Amino acid sequence: TLSDRLTSVFTSLRGKGRLSEEDINSTAREIRLALLEADVALPVVRDFIARVKERARGDEVANTRNPAQQVINIINEELVQILGGETREIRFATKTPPTVIMLAGLQGTGKTTLAGKLGKWLAGERNTPVLVAADLQRPNAVTQLQVVGERANVPVFAPQPGNGVGDPVEVARESIEHARHNNHNVVIIDTAGRLGVDSEMMQQAADIRDAVEPDEILFVVDAMVGQDAVNTAQAFLDGVGYDAVALTKLDGDARGGAALSIRHITGRPIMFASTGEKLEDFDLFHPDRMASRILDMGDMQTLMDKAQKTFEGSEVEQMASTLASEDDFTLDDFLQQMSMVRRLGPISNLLSMMPGMGQMKDQIGEVDDKDLDRITAVIQSMTPSERANPKIINGSRRLRIANGSGTQVSDVNGLVTRFFEAQKMMRQMKNGGMPGMPGMPGT
Ligand code: GDP
Ligand code: MG
Repeated sequence: TLSDRLTSVFTSLRGKGRLSEEDINSTAREIRLALLEADVALPVVRDFIARVKERARGDEVANTRNPAQQVINIINEELVQILGGETREIRFATKTPPTVIMLAGLQGTGKTTLAGKLGKWLAGERNTPVLVAADLQRPNAVTQLQVVGERANVPVFAPQPGNGVGDPVEVARESIEHARHNNHNVVIIDTAGRLGVDSEMMQQAADIRDAVEPDEILFVVDAMVGQDAVNTAQAFLDGVGYDAVALTKLDGDARGGAALSIRHITGRPIMFASTGEKLEDFDLFHPDRMASRILDMGDMQTLMDKAQKTFEGSEVEQMASTLASEDDFTLDDFLQQMSMVRRLGPISNLLSMMPGMGQMKDQIGEVDDKDLDRITAVIQSMTPSERANPKIINGSRRLRIANGSGTQVSDVNGLVTRFFEAQKMMRQMKNGGMPGMPGMPGT
């Protein structure tokens, strides 16, 4: 994947004290390959590489103690830039409500699902949205939206059977009146898509646009389709036009490539990210978080947000301060992290969000709840001084701990080894190993 390749580029860069022209060129070559392999469009790759090279040769790298780290920071910054810089928020209608949001895109990209996600999310932010079924192309499209609306607990405006059915433009137009009369402050219009770009569909979308004059047109695109996404994005830009992009299916393998290309080529910001079939798998798109993800620096902010929702504030603060503090990482920290991670949900999803864990995943990925029970038992059988300084845990202590926790000496050995690995990684990170981490020195 893109992040695997970039991680190996960074590993080889990290060892260097001073960068030669050849170092810069070979790094640029590797990044170029990594981006192309991840389906980032060629013009985007060219621009990106040119900018990174230019900055890498400049004073900001020459005048720093750790040039390799500075180059990594530059790559991160440029990625954030290409992904749009700031998070783009919805522009609500300022004069006359309702705010009209229209969804456009090919069939199967996730428009109908997104309508539900967006509706639920907006309702959670004290809005009163209504979903509009303006996809009358497929026989069950209206029913599908009604099901989605029901699950999202958001009302749906649909053409009544035997009453003006068949004209999506009319349905969209009427929905605005309906919203005004029923105090819906946001209207989300689901439209029809085809499997490929075709002029009839474009015309219909353009007609709906002209009838309702949306405040936001969102182009919905499947992140899994790679290069094709760019062509479709351009076709919709020419045929309908749009203000922002919603990227769906980011839970799939191909994350990164499409996001990087679309933003750069269309000049339209990515506003939303959809990461699964469930209504909750949805958030505003954060360029900095996406860049971290692509660079496999872990997505601490997302993890923290998730943790915030699951835990008391104090526990989260403690975890953050453990990650940021100068103190060495202890077995108590290890245990606390493990137990927090366990409460957060399926381990495999979360590990990739923790800094450096991408690389450790193969090792730790197999940890299940039973393992965690055993680890907890072992650590709890240690004395406070053993926990603070695991180096003192010799053979006889291991036997005592195994007996006390009802485990085998091999379990204790395994845990201690695993802990030292984790501690080593934490030390590396605390010594400025990764850019963009809370509490890390920048250069
Ligand atoms: P539409 O034709 O554009 O309206 O697309 P739908 O909303 O009907 O979605 C098509 C399929 O993609 C459905 O099976 C959805 O459950 C699925 N889907 C939508 N969004 C996502 C996503 O973010 N991740 C994944 N894995 N599946 C999604
Ligand atoms: Mg649909």
